[in-house]
Amino acid sequence: MRFDNLTILVTGGAGFIGSAVVRHLLADTGARVVNVDKLTYAANLDSLPGASGNPRYAFEQHCICQAEALRRIFETYQPSAVINLAAESHVDRSIDGPGDFIQTNIVGTFTLLQEALRHWRGLSPEAKARFRFLHVSTDEVFGSLGETGLFSETSAYAPNSPYSASKASSDHLVRAWRETYDLPTIVTNCSNNYGPYHFPEKLIPHMIIKGLAGEPLPVYGDGRNIRDWLYVEDHARALTLVLEHGRIGETYNIGGRNERTNLDVVNTICELLDQLAPGPASRRNLISFVTDRPGHDRRYAIDASKLERELGWKAKEDFDSGLAKTVRWYLENRVWWQAILDRGYHQSRIGLG
Ligand code: NAD
Repeated sequence: MRFDNLTILVTGGAGFIGSAVVRHLLADTGARVVNVDKLTYAANLDSLPGASGNPRYAFEQHCICQAEALRRIFETYQPSAVINLAAESHVDRSIDGPGDFIQTNIVGTFTLLQEALRHWRGLSPEAKARFRFLHVSTDEVFGSLGETGLFSETSAYAPNSPYSASKASSDHLVRAWRETYDLPTIVTNCSNNYGPYHFPEKLIPHMIIKGLAGEPLPVYGDGRNIRDWLYVEDHARALTLVLEHGRIGETYNIGGRNERTNLDVVNTICELLDQLAPGPASRRNLISFVTDRPGHDRRYAIDASKLERELGWKAKEDFDSGLAKTVRWYLENRVWWQAILDRGYHQSRIGLG
């Protein structure tokens, strides 16, 4: 089986993408998984059903800025790989409070790199050759596209938000630790993810939950901003493929070839809700246009052909199948997201600067 008897240290494994990676590793591979997560507001251990009883799973509640804790974790578990998914991830929050983004995304990645390097330097030649540090980043580091064109692995960095600037910084650190210290790193830059277990502050779950409640559906600006949507389980498969077969020092773009305007996304959610959970009137009547996000990038679109060509990856879900699955999941898993609302998450507008 893939990754048999290998230990993979996943940071941020209680988050949206991290939990999909942990579920995939435990279900489809023989890897042992150590999940290091600080458990911020965005984390949810309920996103890892069955993991705590799995003998191949360990959880360590720590911040990736804590060098001593990381050192002990590397010494205890002797991982063969790191997948770094721990981050502050919400653009609107980064506008109101960039400090946490600088701390976790930059200082945290630096601290993790230092401890990974220390661990790697102490390994046997065979273990050293096998070790990988996979850093998960975003297409937002490339800034905004015009009407045409795609981001490729050679696109110039031009981040526009505190979030994307902090991710860009971390990508540069990872590159530098490879070039300067030979740490075997790989970086992936992916487009917007969606799917089950997504915290309700993000566009798709926000609209599903508001639509179900019959509340206004706030679309930023004119709704014509374009994102390229990637189903989170396709992303998790891509990450383990890159870990297994990706070339050291390379970057890989991951995207689903699913460009949609935000308004298209919201309209499709309305149609799905009207079919699957009919209400008194069409949900489209709930759409309202609100003040745009400051610095709102107009368009992102990913060219994922390097990943497809070199590693044979292909998204299994197109946007229609993935979105239908997602809406159904939120209808069937109300307990998961209701608990987040009950803990005090209010779904109110932030990030107006
Ligand atoms: P998320 O916000 O859902 O989860 C982040 C996780 O990291 C949480 O469990 C949180 O508790 C943990 N964390 C935060 N700060 C930490 C710290 N200092 N130490 C340890 N753990 C900490 O994020 P996500 O959507 O799962 O994103 C994961 C990664 O993928 C991030 O690096 C993000 O930048 C990147 N990414 C996400 C998307 C997307 O659409 N969600 C798109 C592109 C890239």
